[in-house]
Amino acid sequence: MTTIERKTIPVMDGLWQLETDGKPHLLGSRCEACGEVFFPRKTLNFCMNCHKESLEEITFSGKGRVLMLTKVERQPAGGFYKGAVPYTYGIVQLDEGVNIFSQLIDEPALSNDERVEMVVVKLYEEEDNDVMTFKFKAEIIREGDKG
Ligand SMILES: [Zn+2]
Repeated sequence: MTTIERKTIPVMDGLWQLETDGKPHLLGSRCEACGEVFFPRKTLNFCMNCHKESLEEITFSGKGRVLMLTKVERQPAGGFYKGAVPYTYGIVQLDEGVNIFSQLIDEPALSNDERVEMVVVKLYEEEDNDVMTFKFKAEIIREGDKG
């Protein structure tokens, strides 16, 4: 028997990075001209909103709120998704103002408008690798800041 060293790899490069606080943060782009925010980050320096070449790379706080969510019961067609089913999927509005699609950790059950934060978790295993993705889960601190 040989001991195999498992590695963790991201499901896609460039979605998030570890910051100085030791936590993963999603990477995005912000237009310095019009303020538009994009996720994932744009690899070309071109704003889809105002058409200027004035994008800067930003990291998101990783916090936001659930706009909508649904349960996905079956493996999506196309074979690109290798994670487990069923899973919860939805739209999260980040505090920076951009809406992104993401899987949601639905335990305890999430509801619309609930505060969530981003975490990096294992999506599936592939040979010697744990393939990681980001998801959102309920924010732990929920003290009196609901409007
Ligand atoms: Zn712009």
